[in-house]
Amino acid sequence: MIKKLIRKILGTKNNKGGRDTSTPIVIGPDEHRIEPRLLSNNAVRVTSTLQEAGFEAFVVGGAVRDLLLGVKPKDFDIATNATPEQVRKLFRRAFIIGKRFQIVHVIFGQDLLEVTTFRGTTSDSAPKDEHGRVLRDNTFGSQAEDAVRRDFTINAMYYNPANEQVLDYHGGIDDIRARTLRIIGQPEARYREDPVRMLRVVRFAAKLKFTIEPETAAPIPVMAPLINNVPAARVFDEMLKLLMSGQALACLQQLRKEGLHHGLLPLLDVVLEQPLGVKFVTLALDSTDARIVAGKTVSPGFLFASLLWHQVLEKWTAYRAAGELPIPALHLAADDVLDSQTEKLALQRKIGTDMRDIWSMQPRFERRTGKSPHKLLEHPRFRAGYDFLLLRCASGEIDGEIGQWWTDFYEGDEIAREELLSNVGRAGGGEGGVKKKRAPRRGGRSKGAAGVAEGAGGDAGGHGGDGE
Ligand code: ATP
Ligand code: MG
Repeated sequence: MIKKLIRKILGTKNNKGGRDTSTPIVIGPDEHRIEPRLLSNNAVRVTSTLQEAGFEAFVVGGAVRDLLLGVKPKDFDIATNATPEQVRKLFRRAFIIGKRFQIVHVIFGQDLLEVTTFRGTTSDSAPKDEHGRVLRDNTFGSQAEDAVRRDFTINAMYYNPANEQVLDYHGGIDDIRARTLRIIGQPEARYREDPVRMLRVVRFAAKLKFTIEPETAAPIPVMAPLINNVPAARVFDEMLKLLMSGQALACLQQLRKEGLHHGLLPLLDVVLEQPLGVKFVTLALDSTDARIVAGKTVSPGFLFASLLWHQVLEKWTAYRAAGELPIPALHLAADDVLDSQTEKLALQRKIGTDMRDIWSMQPRFERRTGKSPHKLLEHPRFRAGYDFLLLRCASGEIDGEIGQWWTDFYEGDEIAREELLSNVGRAGGGEGGVKKKRAPRRGGRSKGAAGVAEGAGGDAGGHGGDGE
């Protein structure tokens, strides 16, 4: 009771007139109108198993937000008052993950659900770095405390599939209706605790097309440099989410608008301030967004290779001008760019290798005689390199003829391929003179889609976050 009173008096600045945040507003199905078909069966399986064992269990966070917006959530997080050990015992395939704050991964076939025990409020004694970033904070708590720790009002609602009620502690439902992104609590304090929240504001605003509430937005340009103290792997994870949100271009524009791009991430400086590369990057991000929206995979290696290509080009030209041969010059340029980015971005080795493969394949597309084109077709990353080549054509960097030739060669049968090779020979080194006759198609792929390479998506995980 006293605790409640103190909380009421202190209030939190940004929770709309000091509303009591220790008890939730309960919203029934008639009001929230969540469509049951958007709910995953496995999420219901997890909540009902926990509930049958006597625990509380809810779908939480982004999934509830998406359900309320009528969007199918891409994953379901579950919050419970059961401890990780209690959760683990209830499921056949369940694994406790994380050293500092343990969560449980419950697996059904391909589906992974994250089950988290309610977390307690951040105590003043929690260890912090010299800028106030919370380093460790592992206590379990009540549902109300768990809600306070979440980032935005729209991400702090709990849905119980059993009685179809949504519990809303921070006015999230009103903010969803008003399409407003509002941080919970005092904005400066929340960004200081975890500066990644500034990147999250931008991502959600751009992705959901929500307006950032003025007090939530105000401190960002001033506090932006705090992102420098966040471990690179976490910034990378958040950047990847941003780039793979299906609204990458809008996100990057919003980053710039909020004053978050400058001097923070070398990648963004490069991407947003390179006049020559803007068209290329725009095309690359457009096609990435289109693939995500269509539910296709996107390869992080392809994405980062695109974002940094014009930096590579610039250095490649400089090395050649200094007398290096084209191929070694390209490798040197790639080394330089990857070195300058890895420190801040913690690009995973696999992604770096993919980027290098894609870049170093590019000069090989210029060799269109003899056995070279056949060999290139067999390259395990051919498709990514070819898609990249098409982007270069579409952006006007190189002649579209070369992309068309490769499309014909790739899609053609043996006879068409021989004809293409001899035509190039006759025209002399591949310039002009290529017959535009279309070769028969192989498979049903869409022609000339400067898309992101298939088959390498979803491998960007594995960085340990230390926030939520
Ligand atoms: P997405 O649709 O992109 O997955 P999400 O809201 O589910 O969006 P997650 O990163 O999956 O985002 O996080 C799940 C939930 O955990 C969030 O909805 C929020 O409640 C909480 N959360 C995540 N990161 C933070 C953070 N840095 N600070 C506070 N709460 C966070
Ligand atoms: Mg999520």
